[in-house]
Amino acid sequence: MSHTPILIVHGGAWAIPDDMLEAHEQGVFDALQTGYSLLELGASATDAVEAAVTKLEDDTTFDAGRGSFLTRDGRVQLDALLMDGGTMRAGGVACVERLRNPIQAARLVLDRSPHIYFVGQGAEEFAAAHGMPLIDNSELVLDRERERLALAQSNERAGLPDLTFAGPTFADDKSPETAAPPLDSHDTVGAVALDQHGNIAAGTSTGGTLNKDPGRVGDSSLIGCGCYADNQSAAVSLTGWGEPIMKLVLGKWATDRVQLGRSPEQVAPEAISYLHKRLGGHGGIILLGRDGRYGLAHNTPRMAWGICTPDGPRTGTRIE
Ligand code: ASP
Repeated sequence: MSHTPILIVHGGAWAIPDDMLEAHEQGVFDALQTGYSLLELGASATDAVEAAVTKLEDDTTFDAGRGSFLTRDGRVQLDALLMDGGTMRAGGVACVERLRNPIQAARLVLDRSPHIYFVGQGAEEFAAAHGMPLIDNSELVLDRERERLALAQSNERAGLPDLTFAGPTFADDKSPETAAPPLDSHDTVGAVALDQHGNIAAGTSTGGTLNKDPGRVGDSSLIGCGCYADNQSAAVSLTGWGEPIMKLVLGKWATDRVQLGRSPEQVAPEAISYLHKRLGGHGGIILLGRDGRYGLAHNTPRMAWGICTPDGPRTGTRIE
């Protein structure tokens, strides 16, 4: 039986400034076009997710691939995960510094390795051995990000609060974890898809948090945290403050509830509410069931999102 294909993407959940809204919407739109054209041709959900995330990594608007946030010592360190819900195969890479498209390295791990997760130099060598070019880390670094890092570090020295996240959503939050750094922008990218064959897949790719310590890995590339897919439950990609998402294994928390019969429309906001209530966390989620039902939610002021169905693409920077 042929299923109606669906592709959902996100480009991060945070207080996206007004002057960056257009670039975010354009970016998620372009990713939808790229991924959905493959789904229409009968490609797998995994192929569509990989293509959509590649497009988002190539767009310097987002914190993935070139243009990502910098580590405390001024480098780009990337994490990505791709998971195929039909086969339960997964591939992940973390702390890679010499790959332009970590989601493609994740795909190679998924397809060609008995392992599912590689980090650092080993991940780069695995990707290179399977044909990916290794680049100099400086090719991933933008001047815009050098300036952003310098500002974050001078604010840190001055003991100033991070204002990029200030918003009414958290005004009443007394949780001690909410005060923990960093509450900076969260521009991670991700995609979930349902293909004509009825399989689902998910992918997430990130440069992590601004001013992170070298070697830090967040939720995005960890199975069940920032990304998960299983045909028996759902496909999910998250964005936001990684540490609380990891502690709650929030991706799996959400897909488990779909497996128990809850609808993704209900579960998505519940997951974000749980994240906030339990640990004062913030972020956004896209969640897609195998039956084509989906949910999107965030508790940040904005989240870049896009959905494509046979009715065409829709994009936005806030879920009302
Ligand atoms: N979740 C990512 C991390 O903590 C950041 C983001 O979503 O932008 O690494």
